Amino acid sequence: MIVLKTSRELSKMREAGRISSRALRLAGEAVEPGITTWEIDCLVRKYIESQGATPSFLGYGGFPASACISVNHEVIHGIPSKKHVLKTGDIVSIDIGACLEGYHGDNAWTFPCGEISKEARALLDATKESLFEGIKMAKPGNRIGDIGNAVQRYVEARNYSVVRDFVGHGVGAKLHEDPSVPNFGTPARGVRLLPGMTLAIEPMINAGTHQVRVLEDQWTTVTADGALSAHFEHSIAITPDGPQILTLPD
Ligand code: MG
Repeated sequence: MIVLKTSRELSKMREAGRISSRALRLAGEAVEPGITTWEIDCLVRKYIESQGATPSFLGYGGFPASACISVNHEVIHGIPSKKHVLKTGDIVSIDIGACLEGYHGDNAWTFPCGEISKEARALLDATKESLFEGIKMAKPGNRIGDIGNAVQRYVEARNYSVVRDFVGHGVGAKLHEDPSVPNFGTPARGVRLLPGMTLAIEPMINAGTHQVRVLEDQWTTVTADGALSAHFEHSIAITPDGPQILTLPD
């Protein structure tokens, strides 16, 4: 069931989104050679709690941390660890949700750790750009397939592949709501987009094969061929005037 939000609910989601976004910015500023992913997670948790919010991911389905931190060939759901020390050249995908007064904001960004390769930089740029290509299509009258198709066309034209096994989602009073928002699709197919829908659009883009596998920890998802992967996400609202990003810092 797709829940349409009232303008009152949207303003609450903007508040939750602001906290999520600021936590993500803080996490990104902390990415540097020598820091552990666990230390970054601590910063995220402290910040979110200092704002009177709760980390959406902590305890979700048993997830043990506040941020998902996925490095290099890790796609999503990486578990922060005291043993995982970041090094120069890593690309670090950080996914953060915050819940304030019953509403969630969900966002992600892939940050470079120090100097990164030209190939890694190109993957980050293309994935970020594909997110905004998808967001542009999130307007009344369009359908879910228009969003996924825009993402897919943009990245496949650059010889990257779209992860199929994980997709974006509705977001609101629950972290994951209907509808599913795949990063691939056929124009004019799927659920029709209406004002009041709130979606987390989140391309997960691989430099090699689209195939992924989940490690023995039951969370960390990696590319099947070990190639790099990037992940960018915003929570957005569909308004009569078009898409509005909810996960902004100001
Ligand atoms: Mg999400």
